[in-house]
Amino acid sequence: MSGRARYGLLGDPVDHSLSPRLYRAAFQYLRTPAVYEAHRVRSGDRAGLRRWMRDLAVSGGGNVTVPHKQAAANQLEVRLDDVRRTGACNCFWLAPDGRLIGDNTDVGGFRSAVRELEGMRLEGASVLLLGAGGAARAVAAVCADAGVGRLTVCNRSVSRAESLVSEMRLGDLASVCQVPDDVGTPHDLVVNATTLGLRPGDPLPLSLARGRVRYAFDLVYGPGGTAWTRHARAMGVAAIDGTVMLIDQAVLSLERWLGRLPDRDGVARAMRAEVTPGTGGDNR
Ligand code: NAP
Repeated sequence: MSGRARYGLLGDPVDHSLSPRLYRAAFQYLRTPAVYEAHRVRSGDRAGLRRWMRDLAVSGGGNVTVPHKQAAANQLEVRLDDVRRTGACNCFWLAPDGRLIGDNTDVGGFRSAVRELEGMRLEGASVLLLGAGGAARAVAAVCADAGVGRLTVCNRSVSRAESLVSEMRLGDLASVCQVPDDVGTPHDLVVNATTLGLRPGDPLPLSLARGRVRYAFDLVYGPGGTAWTRHARAMGVAAIDGTVMLIDQAVLSLERWLGRLPDRDGVARAMRAEVTPGTGGDNR
């Protein structure tokens, strides 16, 4: 084997993902010889997921995306705290004793990215969370830690929202509902943690009425934002897409694989430049 470490992303779909470009920019900045590639692992293919996780862990490490984050948590031999509390894993590698270990860096990624919403305070806030998959669990963990006043988890399959609330022991803090067509009650923040917006032609995850919502955070990302962040802004709602979260969770993933980074801010800047127009990169 060459000295080049091998990292990768496992999910379906993966074609849209910016992760390979981000990590290549980071490895280049760090002058670390490594490759990072996306691999499609179909939904339900547990054997394929297990094989890829072991394979990449041995050669470097990897990330997991939709729809495998909860399944990936079950494959681990060592679960770090944020995996245990969320039941989801987006980052794995090999522990020194050869066991497959994993973390959920979406938690730290969302925690820092939500600060980009200027003036937004989670403490005491009313939050509407759309989706109940792996990513929604990371958002729910941050909301609980920050002491939100109310968390409403809305999902197409209500039973999955109920599982999120009971497994994460959110108790009196949270209630569940099916994804509403529009927001009846006011909320400080609405977070889209569904996959709606990933595919061209997807409907909006939620129609926002003017004056009912103050902030919107779309975990989906796209050049110049997403259809939903553009809709939100048109309704007078301050909105960001998932680009900053993607970068922040990637920096945390690199730290899990490589140890403390010598120049964390420089790595983040190199990744931002790769995907943000006007900072030295492009946005194809
Ligand atoms: P997941 O575990 O597969 O969950 C998908 C969620 O989307 C579920 O709640 C699912 O509802 C819902 N959904 C799927 N199709 C839908 C439809 N047609 N109508 C309404 N709801 C639908 O995926 P995940 O890992 O949580 O990821 C969710 C999204 O977050 C993805 O778009 C992913 O790319 C994004 N994400 C971004 C970042 C970032 O750093 N920016 C990090 C993590 C995730 P059911 O339960 O009813 O199927």
